[in-house]
Amino acid sequence: MRLIDLNRTRDIGSSCLFAEIGSFNILFDCGTSPKCTGYSSLPDFKKLGAAAIDLILISHCHLDHVGSVPYLIRKQQQARILISQASHIVLPRILNNSVTVMKLQRDEHGIKEYPFYTATDIEAMEQHILPMQFGKSRTLRKDGDEIVITFFEAGHVLGASSILVEHKHRKIFYTGDVLFRDQKTLRGAKWPSCKVDTIITETTRGTTVRKEECSPSSETERLVTTIRNTIDSGGSVLIPAFAFGRMQEILKIINSARKEKKLQANTPIFCSGLGYGLVDDFDMAAKKLSAVDFRRKIAKELNIKIFRGNNPKDIKKQTKEPSIFVLSSGMLVENTSAYNVASALIDDHRNAICFVGFCDDSTPGGELQKCSQGDSFLFKAQNYVAKIFAKMYKFDMSGHADREEILKKVIGMSPRAIVLVHGEEDARNWFMDELIEVAPKVQIWDMNPGEEFTI
Ligand SMILES: [Zn+2]
Ligand SMILES: [Zn+2]
Repeated sequence: MRLIDLNRTRDIGSSCLFAEIGSFNILFDCGTSPKCTGYSSLPDFKKLGAAAIDLILISHCHLDHVGSVPYLIRKQQQARILISQASHIVLPRILNNSVTVMKLQRDEHGIKEYPFYTATDIEAMEQHILPMQFGKSRTLRKDGDEIVITFFEAGHVLGASSILVEHKHRKIFYTGDVLFRDQKTLRGAKWPSCKVDTIITETTRGTTVRKEECSPSSETERLVTTIRNTIDSGGSVLIPAFAFGRMQEILKIINSARKEKKLQANTPIFCSGLGYGLVDDFDMAAKKLSAVDFRRKIAKELNIKIFRGNNPKDIKKQTKEPSIFVLSSGMLVENTSAYNVASALIDDHRNAICFVGFCDDSTPGGELQKCSQGDSFLFKAQNYVAKIFAKMYKFDMSGHADREEILKKVIGMSPRAIVLVHGEEDARNWFMDELIEVAPKVQIWDMNPGEEFTI
């Protein structure tokens, strides 16, 4: 098997791993980097040379895994896209939202290559899709060669999949982003019990040590208590969250807490447009596939309002009374609704910002987390310097499995080779060091951008 990592950086960038397996040219995921804009946010497709891609295997619909699919399909018309049934439901909305964001960025920052694709491209992409039912294999043939693909539930987010590829006697397993524990809205990962030859594994939480007192359920309780205390003291709460997955999870937590009278009943709740739109898709995935435990009635019970905060006057108006804002982006990327609300709430000591997911160090969310009370913070996109008086909290509610758990599960599949992807430098190093220690006979491959490996 020949492998090339098309992600341009050794971190959570644009996930895209090229694999030549027998006669098949395969891409594991095809994302865009959340930290970059313009061409540099795309995978380095030049490294494909003249290779015609046969299959794009999509693990899930976060943009770092799926954001460049329509762009590539326009150039690789023969490619087929394998994606879980539940991911297929949310895919068009997520990509169309990405078109809207790219158009805004083109107009605001003059990024003339945006949008990389249009609604028409997203529609055209539909003909390339082969939806996959979890646990049900699909055999594909090319030039007398044959490959068998099976998708397994990966937890993490609605539709997320770990993918088994079988070619001749060889088994290759791609973890995608994975979470083994159950969430409020979603079952945990269900991996097959077979042995495999090669595992390609995510390493996101390689540097994160879970503190003993921070079990997922105690973190949920702590979040609810923080919201209640903040509202009680006349402040507002901002929870920056990925619109897809995390936002619905948080809404369900709030709804359950209200029913148990752990939260005030009438506090206004604001959500961003994409997160709210996805409620319909979740409802459909629940009805049709029983893929998720989230129904439209949760949004109704919470009486959610859509946040429309494009100009400072609107933002001021909507942040006047104590409210709960569950807004994207999770990393407070510039000009997003979460970023705008953070800038409006940050200078009042009664308010709170609750981070519930991963924030890259270089994003505004990551930078803000390094600050203390009383520090000044520059909201670059608004050219506005604010004093930080709002309280900031971090909750370990990650959608990724703890590193020790991934290590154990990966070794449990008795692989001969393990390929490390999708993690920061230090995170990969942790996995590398541990694996050398506990599985000395296994070959470990730490992918370098653009470099070719033969396994
Ligand atoms: Zn993800
Ligand atoms: Zn990811």
